[in-house]
Amino acid sequence: MDRLLPTPEAHDLLDLTRELATRELAGKVDDYEARGEFPREVLRTIGRSGLLGLPYDESVGGAGQPYEIYLQVLEILAGTWLGIAEAVSVHTLSCFPVAAFGSERQRKALPEMLGGELLGAYCLSEPQGGSDAANLTTRAVPDGEDWLVNGTKAWITHGGSADFYNIFCRTGGPGAKGISCLLADANTPGLLPQARERLMGLRSSAPAQIVLDNARIPHDRIVGEEGQGFAIAMKALDAGRLGIAACAVGLAQAALSYAVSYAREREQFGQPIGRFQGVGFMLADMATQVSAARALLLSAARLKDAGRPFSTEAAKAKLFATDAAMRVTTDAVQVLGGYGYVADHPVERWFREAKVLQIVEGTNQIQRMVIARSLTG
Ligand SMILES: Cc1cc2nc3c(=O)[nH]c(=O)nc-3n(C[C@H](O)[C@H](O)[C@H](O)COP(=O)(O)OP(=O)(O)OC[C@H]3O[C@@H](n4cnc5c(N)ncnc54)[C@H](O)[C@@H]3O)c2cc1C
Repeated sequence: MDRLLPTPEAHDLLDLTRELATRELAGKVDDYEARGEFPREVLRTIGRSGLLGLPYDESVGGAGQPYEIYLQVLEILAGTWLGIAEAVSVHTLSCFPVAAFGSERQRKALPEMLGGELLGAYCLSEPQGGSDAANLTTRAVPDGEDWLVNGTKAWITHGGSADFYNIFCRTGGPGAKGISCLLADANTPGLLPQARERLMGLRSSAPAQIVLDNARIPHDRIVGEEGQGFAIAMKALDAGRLGIAACAVGLAQAALSYAVSYAREREQFGQPIGRFQGVGFMLADMATQVSAARALLLSAARLKDAGRPFSTEAAKAKLFATDAAMRVTTDAVQVLGGYGYVADHPVERWFREAKVLQIVEGTNQIQRMVIARSLTG
């Protein structure tokens, strides 16, 4: 496909990503997904290639790339291995609190974070509620030089593999204003990762609960001000949702390309099935969904790059792109007929993976709430 990119450097970066996806990811994805193993070493390789800190400032170890370019890198990775693209997206999100609100001391770790030596996790959801995050119950109380933290965080991507955890917890009264963000090292006493969840798809990047049992986090590991945690979490999610939308576009593009190739080759009634209007129109609708999703994604990203408000546009992009990925991967299975339903073809995996994108980083019902609120106040 023809991409309008702002610089020759951006072209080089996308070429590098394609090359890395072919060399490092394509041959490994099926094996890791089948075993449900987290590919920590692959992420290190991606970090060494400079792809883990793309949108962050060069002064702290990032690559200083526009968000628009970072998202297209994610799109390419997702088309080969969603688990890796999602891991890059969650890690990028996990670096945001320190990069944007961290103290001088906390920011010293940024080069290692953005280079991928230290992997991050973002701990907002809890077992009793993901959507209503402002009512979270994990509590931190001051105790000598530390915060003493108790509670359970649920669905934590990189849980058990991460080196640092952003723990959103209650340090004050009820509601959003009572929440703070604490930065915990993986070896924090009382921070206890549980067994990883058994997922429908995305098995290489399965999340785990994190139990905090009298976890001791030094007092100066608070990120930003006391009571600022929820605002930090939401700001991180605004940008993170664009990452999930980019993953969705990559998945949908991969499914479309695969279905088109198949429809050109597979013959029934003496001709390629793509020549039947019933199949050709399905492919046309899939292609239109992918292009529309990418256009919405890039338009939101360009607002962010220009320093303009982009939160509602990010919600629209996440909503549309992930619904499009679900539709397109479903239709790709249909185009392949019975072969679409067996694991010999990747459309079966993409179909299972698309579903999770409608749920993570705010379900699509929550995205509609955000968009509706922007319309009605
Ligand atoms: C693979 C995976 C990885 C994840 N990674 C992370 C992570 O790294 N960090 C993290 O913090 N969380 C993570 N999550 C959690 C994820 O963000 C939540 O699952 C999601 O926000 C939904 O929360 P919930 O599962 O508690 O569902 P609920 O909030 O219980 O929602 C259940 C249903 O009710 C609907 N609903 C809820 N409220 C409303 C409303 N007001 N109006 C209309 N409908 C509503 C929802 O849309 C959904 O359909 C992950 C989840 C998965 C599956």
